[in-house]
Amino acid sequence: MDAIAAAKRVHRELDLQRRVTGDAGQIDVFETIGELDIPLVFKPLTSALGLCLPAPLRGIMVTTRRGLHIQRFTAAHELGHVILEHHGSVDCEILERGPFAPTGSRDLQEVAADAFAAEFLLPRWLYRHHIRSQGWTVNGHLRNPDVVYQLSLRMGASYEATCWGLVSHQILPQGEVDALRKVPVARLKSKLGGEFKPRNSWADVWRLTNKDNGARVVGNPDDLLRIELEEAAGSGYQWEVEALRGAGYLILSDESAFSRDPLLYGARAVRILIARPPAAGVGTVTLRETQLWGNGAADDPAFSVALALQGPELGGLSRADRRRLGLQP
Ligand SMILES: [Zn+2]
Repeated sequence: MDAIAAAKRVHRELDLQRRVTGDAGQIDVFETIGELDIPLVFKPLTSALGLCLPAPLRGIMVTTRRGLHIQRFTAAHELGHVILEHHGSVDCEILERGPFAPTGSRDLQEVAADAFAAEFLLPRWLYRHHIRSQGWTVNGHLRNPDVVYQLSLRMGASYEATCWGLVSHQILPQGEVDALRKVPVARLKSKLGGEFKPRNSWADVWRLTNKDNGARVVGNPDDLLRIELEEAAGSGYQWEVEALRGAGYLILSDESAFSRDPLLYGARAVRILIARPPAAGVGTVTLRETQLWGNGAADDPAFSVALALQGPELGGLSRADRRRLGLQP
């Protein structure tokens, strides 16, 4: 319980709820560590995921040999050790799964650091923020593994860790979350991408809709985007897909789906694009919905997302520290 209270205290002291819900929608733990003046460095550790120095020294090291979700959870776990003033720790195994993991023989400090990490990265208010901004409901959507997968991407956590939070915050009962956890994430990805798959098995498929307008997408360089936008095709409007091509995106698929049940003439259609982002994967892309015979007007609907598909931290200082110190990214 001390660990959870400590995580909430850090949220409060750094005003993270306001900052995160008004911006990226996920907690940047590397930035937090920098703001707390705790040295953080990434190294190609092979025998450990991360470590922290004992008090009164302060310092955290995280491996470069894992994906971004594991790096984030490891950093949050080490931050827990520092905040809770534990003796130094070298962590070979970090349980991103909270109560799903057997705790029987584990050191109490390790259990506390995991509890800190889970509460720090996945607070209840962050679930509420995404559920509200997507217009999801607990009964109508959160029992659907596709929705929970999309929620996990937006929170910057694994599917498993996101399931854990659904139980621990009592958003869904244990039995229903156990059913969600049985679904293989690979199947959720392949359903979304259709015949197109991300280039590697750990990359993700983001389903972006009008609800994501203005959002920031933080992911991996090989992630695929499935963009589903309502389109007033019956009134001659179309999303200008050329803007994506111009920004270096490869459009793998471009379809329109109409509601057939009932078939409504002139009703809005849904334009579905599957796109592979350019190699750099960083920048803002804006699409406009314009009338075919018009010249484009300032009040035409627009859809814009900021992409940061940089993947794991690669070594040395974190990207957040480099930004803060004005160094080259
Ligand atoms: Zn530890």
